[in-house]
Amino acid sequence: MKVDLLIVGAGFAGAVLAERCASQLGLECLVLDRRHHIGGNSYDAPDESGILLHVYGPHYFRSNSPKIIDYLGQFTEWHPVEYKILSWTDGRYWQFPINLNTFEQLLGRASTSEEMERTLAEWREPCPSPRNSEEVIVSQVGRQLYDKFFRNYTRKQWGRDPAELDASVCGRIPVRTNRDDRYLSESFQALPKQGYTAMFERMLHHQKIRVELGADFRQWRDKVEWRHLVYTGMVDEYFDHCYGDLPYRSLRFERESFQQEFVQPVMQVNYPNDHDYTRIVEIKHATGQKLPTTTTVREYPAPYERGGEAYYPIPAPAAQELYSKYAALAEACGDVSFVGRLATYRYYNMDQVVGMALVEFEKIAAKFSSKSS
Ligand code: FAD
Ligand code: UDP
Repeated sequence: MKVDLLIVGAGFAGAVLAERCASQLGLECLVLDRRHHIGGNSYDAPDESGILLHVYGPHYFRSNSPKIIDYLGQFTEWHPVEYKILSWTDGRYWQFPINLNTFEQLLGRASTSEEMERTLAEWREPCPSPRNSEEVIVSQVGRQLYDKFFRNYTRKQWGRDPAELDASVCGRIPVRTNRDDRYLSESFQALPKQGYTAMFERMLHHQKIRVELGADFRQWRDKVEWRHLVYTGMVDEYFDHCYGDLPYRSLRFERESFQQEFVQPVMQVNYPNDHDYTRIVEIKHATGQKLPTTTTVREYPAPYERGGEAYYPIPAPAAQELYSKYAALAEACGDVSFVGRLATYRYYNMDQVVGMALVEFEKIAAKFSSKSS
């Protein structure tokens, strides 16, 4: 079989490139995914009672980029959401991420932004350029709040101490001295109105795009002749683990359904210090579905083993060093684009992956236009 573009992976990276290259360049695209569905980790599907679940953990779309929002907006309408979460510890709910309401809960009385700023200034352990996830939090809020909300959650999530992880991991979580209690800070926060899978179906619905599911690149690579390859799977797997295995973190999801409209007060409750799971998500709060029943998903972090699901690359110095060896091999493959979270070993959000794919599209367009001229 001959195609212009062979695309490995039908997640955001693969779907954006298939859509752009088919619709803008008229290239014949074959998209493979070894899973039995499109959408990658953002795949959603209704459960037995019709609740649209995020199958691989909650996916809260957010972005500051009009270009990315407008691009995806061609394939979906949006359902605006202010993502709200709580943290459960010491036998009660806490406002999270840390904001003025959390500070008031801690004091047990009303306070002000000025008092909170003054107090945090006393609690902080100054660190001009935090090198890891412990330093980034302790330098913002001090050790008491770090121990309450971050230390054990992070150990549970990553199987490593925050001091062993890049500052960007816990640094993702905002700390605010006002009453803004949204989990995320980006200007645009919304879910695709009919869900992610419906959006992906529209992106991939094109006469020049063929999708093969349950199709592993390792079995297909010798059956297809391609002019360019887009690879969005694990970069170490592509190179047969020649420098050794990159570390990843995996997850196990446990669902529970209830004959009542809602069971928890908000979309997500984090459990930093109790239980083996990190969070319980009741996604119905965010999707806005009106149904008399509900379903929650508990998320248990798990070690990654070959053949399992690699949900997270691990943002830590030794892993990055090993990745840089694979990155050098990838760089030398002129006819292959390595795009997305697993292929570039980066803890990217969905919008960042879309942005990366749109940039890669320009490179592929330049390559094909120079070949045809
Ligand atoms: P993926 O979605 O992983 O797609 C890669 C695809 O390639 C997979 O479907 C895989 O099956 C396929 N593949 C791999 N190897 C092969 C092979 N050899 N042959 C065939 N197919 C192959 N982002 C946000 O913006 N907001 C969030 O709230 C958010 N929450 C998240 C929660 C969890 C639990 C996780 C794990 C991620 C979350 N993300 C979130 C990140 C988001 O999932 C990613 O940014 C995005 O899905 C990356 O898209 P991708 O195309 O790079 O990779
Ligand atoms: N985190 C934490 N406590 C929390 C929430 C997050 O320590 O209550 C840390 C943890 O290390 C986590 C990181 O912050 O992995 C990023 O959190 P986020 O909710 O963005 O993680 P994701 O949704 O990507 O799993």
